[in-house]
Amino acid sequence: MDYTKLSILEVAKLLREKKVTSEELTKQVLENIKQKENLHALNFVCEEYALNKAKEVDKLFSENKELPLLAGIPITIKDNINIKGLKTTCSSKFLSNFVAPYSATIIENLEKNYAVIVGKNNMDEFAMGSSTENSAFFTTPNPHNTEYVSGGSSGGSACAVAANLGFASVGTDTGGSVRQPASLCGVVGLKPTYGLVSRYGIVAFASSLDQAGPLTKTVKDSALMLNVLSGYDEKEETSSKHIKEDYMQSFKGNVKGIKIGIVKEFFGEGLNEEVKNAILKVKDFYESKGAEIVELSMPFVLSALACYYVLSSAEAASNLSRFDGVKYGVSVSDAKNINDLYLKNRSQGFGKEVKRRIMLGNYVLSSGYYDAYYKKAKKVQRKLVEEFNEVFEKCDVLLTPTSPSTAFKIGEKSNNPLSMYLSDVYTVPVNIAELPAISVPCGVDSKGLPIGMQLIGKKFSEKTLFNVADVYDSSREEK
Ligand code: GLN
Repeated sequence: MDYTKLSILEVAKLLREKKVTSEELTKQVLENIKQKENLHALNFVCEEYALNKAKEVDKLFSENKELPLLAGIPITIKDNINIKGLKTTCSSKFLSNFVAPYSATIIENLEKNYAVIVGKNNMDEFAMGSSTENSAFFTTPNPHNTEYVSGGSSGGSACAVAANLGFASVGTDTGGSVRQPASLCGVVGLKPTYGLVSRYGIVAFASSLDQAGPLTKTVKDSALMLNVLSGYDEKEETSSKHIKEDYMQSFKGNVKGIKIGIVKEFFGEGLNEEVKNAILKVKDFYESKGAEIVELSMPFVLSALACYYVLSSAEAASNLSRFDGVKYGVSVSDAKNINDLYLKNRSQGFGKEVKRRIMLGNYVLSSGYYDAYYKKAKKVQRKLVEEFNEVFEKCDVLLTPTSPSTAFKIGEKSNNPLSMYLSDVYTVPVNIAELPAISVPCGVDSKGLPIGMQLIGKKFSEKTLFNVADVYDSSREEK
C-alpha cells in the first residue's frame, strides 16, 4: 500500500495500530523523492539522518511508549531554517557550502516530537520571490502541470507536500511565501500571528514580518503542526508570551454564528474570474452552514503591497549586510583589497532579485528618501492596522482569495518584477498587520490548476481560523 498520500493524522493512527512502521513510511517517501527528482522540490536529501531517526522511533513504538502525534512522520524543511550539521543554503550561491552550527528552535521542537526530517526544500533565493525561479539552483515546477510554477518563495515546500514527498513541510512567510505556494499547489498553508512561532535559527529576510508556518494536506494536520512549532522562546526577542494553546481543540465542526467578512477590495480589478467564482462559492457554502456574511470595505488595503516592498526591502538590505564572504558565505580569491573583496563577493554571490531588493532597501533608507518612502510606509502600516481593527469589530474572519490567479507559466513573469510582486497583493496585508491567515484549497480552474482561499483572523485567533477552515476542508469530498 502507498501510505504517502495519507494525512499525518491518518498515518499516526496506523503507526499506533502497528500497521506500518516509521521506517516503511520514510522509505516510501524517499522512493517518491527519487521518482520525482524532476520536480526539484528538494535541495538535498538527508537519507541516513532520516532512516536512523525512523528506526529510533520504531524502537520506541515497539516498546509501547506513548509518543507525540508527529512521531515517526517524514517531513521536509525549507532551506532557510537551520538544522545543526546540515547545510542551510537559502537556495543561494552565497551559502552553497554553509553548514549550520546550531538548530533553529522550531527544529528542536520538531525533534522533541520525533519528527523524521528527510530533506531541505528549494525556495526563492533568501525567500525573495513568488515562483522559486529566483533559486540559484533550479526552478520547482508545479506538481499538477510541470510547465507552471509552484509559487514561492516556499515553492519547494508546497510542491513536496502536494507530490507526497513528505507529509508536511515548514516554510516561512514574510509576505505570502507559505500561503501563495500552498494555494498554487493545492495544499494548506498557515501564516501564524507574528511572534507565535520562534524565528531563532531562521535566516532573516524582513525580521518584523517573517514568520514560519506549516504546509500540510489538511487543516487538522496544520493545527497539529502548529502545536509543535508554536511557543515562547527566550532566545528570540519578538517571541510572544501568548499562553500555549492546544490547536487540536479548535474543531467544533460548525460555523454557526461565525461572522465572515467579505472585503470588496479583495474582489476588484486584477482578480481572475475563475478564482473569484471559486471564492464566492465558498462564501455560499459557509452561508448555507449557518455563518453570517458581512460585506465590508477597506479602502487602504491594497496599499499594503507598496508598503510591503518598501519595508521588507529596507529590512532585507540591513539583514543581508552580514553576507560579505568574510563572516558568512563563499569568497573570491583574487581580491585586490578589502573593498574589492566585499564588492566581488557580494556581486558574484547574490542573484539578480536579491540585489534588486538590497538596492531598493538602501534607497528607501537613504537620507533624502527616508521620509518620502520608509517613513510614509510606516504610516501606511499604521493605517492598515487600524482598518483591520475596524473590520474585526464587525466580523470574526475575512474570506479572500489567496492569490489573484492560479499558477502561471515558468518564465511568464520572470522578466517583469512588478507583475510578479502583484501575486502577493492579497497576502502581504496580513504580514504588515501581524495577523494569522490560512490558505485552503477550494477547487481547480479550467486548466486543472488548484485555487486557494484565504481566511484571515484577529491576532492569536488561530483556533477560530482552524475551525472555520476545517468545516470547509472536511467537506471537500462532498463538493
Ligand atoms: N513574494 C514575496 C516577496 O518576494 C513574499 C516573500 C516571502 O513571503 N518570503 O517578497
